[in-house]
Amino acid sequence: MKTLVLVGGGHAHLHCLEQLKKEPQRDWRVVLISPSRHQYYSGMFSGYAEGIYRLDDIRIDLQKLCEQVGAVFLEDRIAGVDGRNKRLAGTKGVYPFDVASFDVGSQSDIPAELVERVSKIKPNYRFPEALVKFREAAYPVIAGGGASGVEMAFSVLAWRKKNGLPSNVTLFSSSSLLPGHGAAASKKIEAIARRKALSFFTDERIAAIDEHSVSTQSGRTYPQSDLLWLTGPKSPGFFKHSGLMTDAGGFLLVNESLQSLSHPDLFGAGDCIAIGRYPSLAKNGVYAVRQGSVLWNNLRNQLAGKKLAAFTPQKNFLSILSTGGSEALLMYGKRAAHGKLPWLLKQRLDQQFMQRFKRLYK
Ligand SMILES: Cc1cc2nc3c(=O)[nH]c(=O)nc-3n(C[C@H](O)[C@H](O)[C@H](O)COP(=O)(O)OP(=O)(O)OC[C@H]3O[C@@H](n4cnc5c(N)ncnc54)[C@H](O)[C@@H]3O)c2cc1C
Repeated sequence: MKTLVLVGGGHAHLHCLEQLKKEPQRDWRVVLISPSRHQYYSGMFSGYAEGIYRLDDIRIDLQKLCEQVGAVFLEDRIAGVDGRNKRLAGTKGVYPFDVASFDVGSQSDIPAELVERVSKIKPNYRFPEALVKFREAAYPVIAGGGASGVEMAFSVLAWRKKNGLPSNVTLFSSSSLLPGHGAAASKKIEAIARRKALSFFTDERIAAIDEHSVSTQSGRTYPQSDLLWLTGPKSPGFFKHSGLMTDAGGFLLVNESLQSLSHPDLFGAGDCIAIGRYPSLAKNGVYAVRQGSVLWNNLRNQLAGKKLAAFTPQKNFLSILSTGGSEALLMYGKRAAHGKLPWLLKQRLDQQFMQRFKRLYK
């Protein structure tokens, strides 16, 4: 019997597990390997940070899910790939495969000299512990003005206001806020930040950190007691170290069929891949979810020796970022709207996403 190994419990692999339940397989078995029994859903991190969701609301039990869909769950972290002999090296063992797929996400791009001194939430299972410590810090500081840094800053600020702590969350961005969403979105989110009294600095890069403060490249010093680093994304190093074909950043290089360019029995999806034809495709949960159906189709077809299908990314996608206080900023193409309604929509979409998988094992 052949073995399909899914490495990581990311968005696209959740879809594969869901499909396995609908289409049980006789000729091959599925093994899911992930370093945590739980997959944490980043779409709900802001609601958790603000105290709206409980821990169980934001995570999926991969072990129970696997049991219910007929897959084997193994708790391990993959650190190397022997593409030629078709073996994966984990920290606890070696795992043979016929076809393997990676959906292991990305890491935060932390400068080497700061890595030991900052708080990290990636891989995602680190999030709850790091966040709970961070939001109670005397001087919480966030590095990164992209979507995740902005959402965390607003949500932690809202939580501190609710819980009677000083509103002194500070956000640093080396560019404008939300630089990937265009100038109008940056202007809008910066106006919201001013209105909500979020302390933020744009075009200001953190260069050094000591026990009590951060110093920026422009020579200023600010107090800190916990620095959450949310810039990135950075690739997991093991693709490159294993001799697989990667892009310059070390992300697994795949074709439109999500198939490795160097090893045809390896596939990937989500943040950890670079698609040769779409080198600047944003790394976010939206594309990771969208790749799920093409990935499942192609994994099945590769095992059966059939033709593979191509993934075509949509040009525009809906982005809804929490700004705290049950408000959110909705962005689609060049349009943006802020208020309670976007938050309600976000809440509904996120809960529906989680229910899709939780109902398979609850
Ligand atoms: C605070 C925050 C908020 C965000 N909000 C949004 C949002 O609202 N919308 C959006 O589209 N994007 C959002 N993002 C980005 C989003 O989290 C990522 O783009 C998305 O999670 C990538 O999904 P993925 O499937 O590639 O991997 P992930 O969801 O990161 O899952 C990776 C999985 O692989 C496992 N894993 C990691 N390393 C290994 C290994 N070596 N071996 C085996 N398993 C491994 C992990 O434990 C995890 O189960 C947010 C990010 C952050 C940090």
